[in-house]
Amino acid sequence: MAEKWVFTGKWTCGWCNYVYDPSKGAPEAGIKPGTPFEDLPEDWPCPSCNISGKFRKQMRKEEG
Ligand SMILES: [Zn+2]
Repeated sequence: MAEKWVFTGKWTCGWCNYVYDPSKGAPEAGIKPGTPFEDLPEDWPCPSCNISGKFRKQMRKEEG
């Protein structure tokens, strides 16, 4: 209840601190610039630490 997320569009990997910026995408991982986080494949691995299938669970929204 106390959690208050302000969505700034960027997401951070909880393991390696990789930051996903939808405006930049992740070209090295085949994600085009402008791809919203919500449109990433469910099993898309973190391009930095490659924790396949857990990316979306471990990512957290950056607070504004
Ligand atoms: Zn990672």
